[in-house]
Amino acid sequence: MYRNFSIVPNIVFGRGSFGQLGDIIAPRRVTEGSYFVFVIDDVFKGKLLEERLPLEGNDLLLRVNVDDEPKTVYIDQLVEQINRYSKIVPDGIVGIGGGSTMDIAKAVSLMLNNPGSSADYQGWDLIQNPSIYHVAVPTLAGTGAEISRTAILTGPVKKLGINSDYTLFHQILLDSELLADVPKDQWFYTGMDCYIHDVESLRGTFINEFSRAYGEKSLDLCRQVFLDDHPDRGDKLMMASYFGGMSIAYSQVGACHALSYGLSYVLGIHHGIGCCIAFDYLDEFYPEGVQEFRRMMEKHNINLPRNVTAGLDDEAFGLMVTTALGLVPLWENCLGPDWEKLMSRERTLELFEKM
Ligand code: NAD
Ligand code: ZN
Repeated sequence: MYRNFSIVPNIVFGRGSFGQLGDIIAPRRVTEGSYFVFVIDDVFKGKLLEERLPLEGNDLLLRVNVDDEPKTVYIDQLVEQINRYSKIVPDGIVGIGGGSTMDIAKAVSLMLNNPGSSADYQGWDLIQNPSIYHVAVPTLAGTGAEISRTAILTGPVKKLGINSDYTLFHQILLDSELLADVPKDQWFYTGMDCYIHDVESLRGTFINEFSRAYGEKSLDLCRQVFLDDHPDRGDKLMMASYFGGMSIAYSQVGACHALSYGLSYVLGIHHGIGCCIAFDYLDEFYPEGVQEFRRMMEKHNINLPRNVTAGLDDEAFGLMVTTALGLVPLWENCLGPDWEKLMSRERTLELFEKM
């Protein structure tokens, strides 16, 4: 069976397009007494971007902290805060930030219309009711969260996304001017998330012409950004992220993402940097990709953290291995249907021990 998947229906692209946000959401301000919620990364507190938000009437500004990647308890708290703020459901949510903030905005927009805890919906197509209208404005490029049908959350027992068609944003606004002040290391790590999406998609067994078309273009854009230092690298990275997300939407990621989930679940290591840490040990899976990745690191003087798993006990390593191997479709994409014969717990543990 071929998947019939939804995509984001409305997209604005261009430098300075953030100035159009107010006009874009205006027709969605439909309910009397209602309001919009602006979910913004607290890194922008007191910055010009906050002043430029098109706040009106009783709109709510919610500054979110993403020092830890989003947790289900945090989503539940934010939903409670909005419900306390007003008995009326907001007309819309705008998420402004990197992958973490975009995922928070997605999850909150779903949970305002679905009962219980966000942890109840970690999985595939468990959401019953459509979300409220939600918009993404990325301020970091690479995760593809702006285009994906998942909101990745760490819950009480697992790190797993809320995957559903309702998770998709209704509108995204891609303005590369917003990338201007990203610290270099973060720019690189989040950008490499995209590069690794492309490599894992293109080198995977699930590859097809749909995913290849997007993946190859995204890879080409990543090379222009990270090897050629192209003057339009902001615009190019925005589009690489979008295309990388489109590529994996119809294929899958692979070994690197599976291992990075283990690092993230046990050590709290963030997604982009975790992918970079893992990828550097995956020559046997992605030989050309890892070589090129190292050239990109060298060009940008990136020093990856080393020995992050040093000193962990057997239990922690065990949990890390279980988390990584639990991501069955990722291994299947990487190694084929017989992946279990190739990817033993011992082999997985050896990889983690090297990191
Ligand atoms: P992030 O959102 O976690 O942010 C990383 C850091 O950069 C934070 O400290 C943040 O405050 C800061 N930051 C963001 N924009 C900035 C700017 N313009 N200037 C200065 N600092 C800025 O980083 P990310 O790599 O974009 O996202 C990682 C998250 O995305 C993880 O939680 C991961 O699980 C999730 N993710 C989601 C998907 C998806 O499809 N939903 C895919 C991949 C990753
Ligand atoms: Zn990723």
